[in-house]
Amino acid sequence: MAKLRRAVVGAAAVALAGAVGYTVGAYAATEGLGIGVVRRGPARPMVALTFDDGPDPEYTPRILEALAAAGANATFFMVGRQVAAAAAVARAVAAAGHDLGNHTYAHRHLWTLPPTASVAEVDRGAAAIANATGVSPRYFRPPWGTFNWAAYARAAQIGEARILWSVRPEGMIVAADAPRMAAVVVRKAHRGAIVNLHDHGGHASTPRETWLALPTMIAGLRDRGFQIVPLRILLDDPLPPRRPQAAQR
Ligand SMILES: [Zn+2]
Repeated sequence: MAKLRRAVVGAAAVALAGAVGYTVGAYAATEGLGIGVVRRGPARPMVALTFDDGPDPEYTPRILEALAAAGANATFFMVGRQVAAAAAVARAVAAAGHDLGNHTYAHRHLWTLPPTASVAEVDRGAAAIANATGVSPRYFRPPWGTFNWAAYARAAQIGEARILWSVRPEGMIVAADAPRMAAVVVRKAHRGAIVNLHDHGGHASTPRETWLALPTMIAGLRDRGFQIVPLRILLDDPLPPRRPQAAQR
């Protein structure tokens, strides 16, 4: 009996160690050591604005207008479920020449998901974007910037570079208003910066404040000598966006 108990305890310890490695290990590698993830581009006078969690039926079109008015292109990390609910908005983002990123299907925290479900979150997010827009996303960003090993590996397998960020103007606890967001981004911007913004999600006020912040943010970044570019330019990505039809051949 004692032997059995020891075996059970031993197996539980191994399982726990495995689970911790699967989540915290992936976190330590990506967040702490920065292994296999991109937080910034090469040190050139360029900044990439990235918008997570959309498309949002109300604010994404306004953000597209603000970007068009400023003559700037950005990158949108879309949630598959949002894309399915607002496919026309997702298409408008792609049609305006912005880069597309996969932000999973349902925005679940990856630490709560076993490997099969994690792979499905990555694959279904990519498929929803490809189905709606005709473009397969080239970039992957996990919800809250937190990987597990399954999602980490799967993103690379399906040709999506893992992207985090180097500048984030939004407060985690207290919502930032538009003037503060613009000021923080302009002050903290650096050569090759990747800025994390939200066109949906975050605090209730975040998409609206983000939209309102854009003209000042973009003008301030340009005053500092930065070009506003999508990720493919920031990262010198030599490949054109992949079409799903071509990927299937
Ligand atoms: Zn998110």
